[in-house]
Amino acid sequence: AKEAGRARMTLYDASMDADREQRNALELDLRIAIESGDLTLAYQPLIDAATHAMTGVEALVRWNRPGHGPVSPELFIPIAETSGLIESLGLFVLRKACETAKQWPNLNVSVNVSPGQFRNPAFTDYVRYVLKQTEIEAGRITLEITEGYMIQNPQRTRQSIERLKGLGVKVALDDFGSGFSSIGYLRQFGFDRIKIDRSLVMGVNEDKRQREMLQATVALARSLDIPVTAEGIETEEQAIAMRLFGCDCLQGYLFGKPVTSDLISEMLNERRA
Ligand code: C2E
Ligand code: CA
Ligand code: CA
Ligand code: CA
Repeated sequence: AKEAGRARMTLYDASMDADREQRNALELDLRIAIESGDLTLAYQPLIDAATHAMTGVEALVRWNRPGHGPVSPELFIPIAETSGLIESLGLFVLRKACETAKQWPNLNVSVNVSPGQFRNPAFTDYVRYVLKQTEIEAGRITLEITEGYMIQNPQRTRQSIERLKGLGVKVALDDFGSGFSSIGYLRQFGFDRIKIDRSLVMGVNEDKRQREMLQATVALARSLDIPVTAEGIETEEQAIAMRLFGCDCLQGYLFGKPVTSDLISEMLNERRA
């Protein structure tokens, strides 16, 4: 029995090592990708719920890992966070999004900010720096942050949001309804917009309870007079329901998947033509 136990132990350790090795390899490749500018951005349309016009886009980072193919940001963003790469990754995304936004007059551009960036006391400084460097109108940039960090540090979060808004950028709460947000927090933070999480939107046509939950969540956001975006809209029914509940902005595969900046430019040109 003792022998068997030892054998199991060795097996276990070996698989742990393999995991760690894979992670290290991924981390190294990610570091190289960031340094050599191999990350790209995709842009997903944000749609006015009333007119169905594209009023903005959300920038989403993409990584095509050599020899492996595309890696999901849900996988590599957390690795960037724990390995000290998030700052350079975040700076790349913000700069690229602002530069690209310059070719699109009047289009709003949303950029995701991860807790690791937001936590950095110098974050506001580098947002200011990028705005100045790229000469983009600050009012066209929305920074999307998730709630995880806010709950732990409400005081510092509020200060950071205030400073960011002082630069003229907008600040949105991402993935609302997926975690612990409470109405009390929302009021004091001064968000310019709230985005309802896709996991909630998905349930709109499921059962009565889920639908009511969703409706209550949108109502909660709206009771603060904060405009609400619904993300992850895949069906016409979802679009109609979310508009009915009071969302002024819609996002999802129904209206457009994340695409290259060139395709967004084409869509804008078609609209003008
Ligand atoms: P998110 O900010 O909530 O972004 C929305 C995600 O949902 C995107 O996945 C988008 O492609 C996907 N999506 C949009 N509409 C639909 C739909 O109708 N159906 C379905 N099934 N999915 C839809 P993506 O690009 O894989 O990004 C995943 C997450 O990774 C993002 O969630 C965000 O948290 C993070 N992320 C992506 N890009 C960045 C970035 O540049 N910086 C940071 N810090 N995080 C990023
Ligand atoms: Ca987002
Ligand atoms: Ca989201
Ligand atoms: Ca999400």
